Amino acid sequence: MPCGPSIRWKHSRPRAKGIIDSCHVQTAMTTTPPDILDNYRQLVAKVDALCSSITTHLAGELHCRAGCSSCCISITIFPVEAAAMVRLLKTLPDQQSREIRAHVTRQKGGARCPLLRDERCLLYEARPIICRTHGLPIVYTQEGAQISDCCPLNLTGTTSLSGSDVVNLDTLNTLLTAINATYLAQSPHPPLQDRIAIADIIETATSDR
Ligand code: SF4
Ligand code: SF4
Repeated sequence: MPCGPSIRWKHSRPRAKGIIDSCHVQTAMTTTPPDILDNYRQLVAKVDALCSSITTHLAGELHCRAGCSSCCISITIFPVEAAAMVRLLKTLPDQQSREIRAHVTRQKGGARCPLLRDERCLLYEARPIICRTHGLPIVYTQEGAQISDCCPLNLTGTTSLSGSDVVNLDTLNTLLTAINATYLAQSPHPPLQDRIAIADIIETATSDR
């Protein structure tokens, strides 16, 4: 079912580098979570389900594929997203995590995401929220105006979309900000930065390997 009315569609701005939101996503707070990342995992599941649904619906108009990676630019992410990335990194064999660290250090400071190697994400399972929406139509508010956008490779002939096929970044940002705040309140050693560069996350997490 649509979550909103149809919208006129056009690529109006470069892709937002912040975090995105969806009208399908609902806050997934629990009072006593058994794991500090449970709320974030629930959000990821909701976002993945939404993105999967939109991808299926717009399949003929999307051209995302393995090996296409112009969307993978260098970004900073919330501490809760960083924690999920570190959690995955810690499960990898030492040799693999050392290789990731070496690659990230070589790529650090560039315009492309340092986790991109051979056009693929080295920590795809733990990619941040915004990466999960890559390629899909988005809307967000900027200076009071609603901006619609999408990767320029997709939806090139589209002029109208159902509201259920658009990711609402404002909603998603609100949810992610709330979940991040809960994570920080529960974390015994919360980071000082509001957002963290991916290269710094990887280098810090692998400094003992
Ligand atoms: S974290 Fe992975 S998916 Fe996200 S921008 Fe970097 S390489 Fe791309
Ligand atoms: S968002 Fe654009 S650049 Fe990224 S995989 Fe999809 S088509 Fe390729």
